[in-house]
Amino acid sequence: MSIPEIFGIDVFNESVMQERLSSDVYKAFKKTIEEGKHLGQSLADAIAVAMKDWAVEKGATHFTHWFQPMTGITAEKHDSFISPSGDGHVIMEFSGKELIKGETDASSFPSGGLRATFEARGYTAWDPTSYAFIKGNILCIPTAFCSYSGEALDKRTPLLRSMEAINKSALRVLKILGSDAAHVTPNIGAEQEYFLIDREMYSKRKDLIYTARSLYGAKPPKTQELDDHYFGTVKTRVAAYMADLDEQLWKLGVLAKTKHNEVAPCQHELAPIFSVANVATDHNQLTMELMKRTARRHGFKCLLTEKPFEHVNGSGKHINWSLSTDTGVNLLNPGKTPAENAQFLTFLVAVIKGVNKYQDLLRISVASANNDHRLGASEAPPSIISIFLGDELTAILDSIVKGEVYHATGKQYMEVGVDILPNFKKDTTDRNRTSPFAFTGNKFEFRSPGSKLSVAGPTTFINTIVADVLDEFADELEGAEDVKEALNKLIKRTIEENSAIIFNGDGYSSDWVEEAKKRGLVNYPSTPDALPHFADKKNVELFERHNVYSETEIRSRIEILLEEYIKTIKIEARTMLDMANKDIFPAVSSYVKELAQTAKLAGECGVNAEYENDMLRKLTDLTSKMYKAYNELSEIEKPLEQPITGCEKLAKYCHDTVIPAMKVLREPADELESLVGQKYWPYPTYGELLFYV
Ligand code: ADP
Ligand code: MG
Repeated sequence: MSIPEIFGIDVFNESVMQERLSSDVYKAFKKTIEEGKHLGQSLADAIAVAMKDWAVEKGATHFTHWFQPMTGITAEKHDSFISPSGDGHVIMEFSGKELIKGETDASSFPSGGLRATFEARGYTAWDPTSYAFIKGNILCIPTAFCSYSGEALDKRTPLLRSMEAINKSALRVLKILGSDAAHVTPNIGAEQEYFLIDREMYSKRKDLIYTARSLYGAKPPKTQELDDHYFGTVKTRVAAYMADLDEQLWKLGVLAKTKHNEVAPCQHELAPIFSVANVATDHNQLTMELMKRTARRHGFKCLLTEKPFEHVNGSGKHINWSLSTDTGVNLLNPGKTPAENAQFLTFLVAVIKGVNKYQDLLRISVASANNDHRLGASEAPPSIISIFLGDELTAILDSIVKGEVYHATGKQYMEVGVDILPNFKKDTTDRNRTSPFAFTGNKFEFRSPGSKLSVAGPTTFINTIVADVLDEFADELEGAEDVKEALNKLIKRTIEENSAIIFNGDGYSSDWVEEAKKRGLVNYPSTPDALPHFADKKNVELFERHNVYSETEIRSRIEILLEEYIKTIKIEARTMLDMANKDIFPAVSSYVKELAQTAKLAGECGVNAEYENDMLRKLTDLTSKMYKAYNELSEIEKPLEQPITGCEKLAKYCHDTVIPAMKVLREPADELESLVGQKYWPYPTYGELLFYV
């Protein structure tokens, strides 16, 4: 079958609905969605029957409410369609009630204290704006997941709330600017980086198995210094994997578009064509799931962790974000006419102000144990948030502040439109890869998120932040006598007041850290530094104002994320100890024994075994050093055993004490690795892992 024929073949999408639903039902359904209303019982029943018939014809036997708990991955519980027909047989049934709402035992999902233990029930509720699809033989229904008392236990609910918030706020502003748009949606294009390694080698390393990250590993003779992997020819074996993955994604309606090798050996990227935020979030989850599942079939292991290997780049997930109207306008597109320019500048400065005012939140939205290894490590944006606009756009904003007419350099033209709002061409400057938040022509690209992170969190934050500023703008403009003049003033003042966040230079340089400090920008280098600020008064007020998170929901999320941080470090520390004890020490001992025997034999023959004797000393010195570090880490990780209370303190302890002790243990181990004979070393080295054929 051709690609257009297989695309979306497993999705209950518009065309299937049009074909399968009566035109009355279809129209009523579309209307409910457009108006954001609840689905009536009879409508739900009609859709459920059509959905079930379609799914059963395609071989589905079960259905599931597919949701995204706060673990960051997806969850499903399968129910078959069977129902006894009373004569010893069964029929396949699925009701509107089952489609719309599910009850599930929420007790095993993290809730951060939201779900009191006496009330273990949780609800899942259909999100009809994201299509149902078939995975294997399961009909998957995208749902939100809430507690009995209505608190969000998932990532989708706040995202949907934030989409509603930005829709409302953006429409207020657009109305003032004379637009006839009736709906505004945030769009997301999530570029997904990942590592593929040989499954057999993977299975020999406990660190990769338990933590999806190598905790030991000496630097191999070659890493990424030749830049020969980025955009290089894809290995045949990898190409077959990518082709298989693409096909599966296409069947699920995921617009998989770009694939290429990344900077590090074994590192690759897949980017879809952007789509509406909640759909893009679902699709990214499916992409991650299928990346892992497909890897197994091809003898690979797919690692989505942010920093699986020291000495080479980690993996990120760039979130491209823009806003568009139902009339087909991208509000971040500079446009050609002065009116479009005015609209563009309004939305542009709203984003600038939002990011400046809530820098901390953007940092918080990407905080995790693994992403901490990336941010600021000269391979990914720093933990300081700043905006890259490019030279031309920055010059235009400068000229607006100065009240001067902007003169474009070179061949670029300009056309002064409404007062100070000039027309200009899309920015053509080199894109700055070191910036965490970069304007790239007609969208912003948020580059801090780690590869494993759900798109939902950062997107929810960006939507809410921008919605808030747009509301402020609307408040100001709605009361103005002369809107044009008020808008000009507003834009000028917003640029003036928020220029500190704009930085077009090298985000990787240490000078920037100093400079950012002078500018008063927030810098929370680690997850335990960042997370507690989620509950800062201004942040709670922001999210409550837009009904995105209640204070309780915020506090529960902080707790869950800190717990996850602590558990991650705990598992890592224990895996290191286990590998030291069971793998590394015994391996070194065997090699030492071999050397000692050789040296002894040589001595008996009257020969001075220089290499053996030297090596014996080196190895035993390093082993002693490692043993000391091992004992220290064993002591240090003990407090992590306590039942987790006071997460904040324990997370800081992990960061300040456990992680440094892990580093101290790793050093001699890696040195030993480089000295011990290959056949003695107990697991594949970086060289073997990264340069498989
Ligand atoms: P690069 O690697 O150069 O950043 P890619 O082509 O890999 O670029 O990825 C760019 C991503 O941005 C794609 O997912 C693309 O669909 C998405 N994108 C393009 N335009 C928009 C837009 N207006 N809004 C959101 N995302 C967009
Ligand atoms: Mg990119």
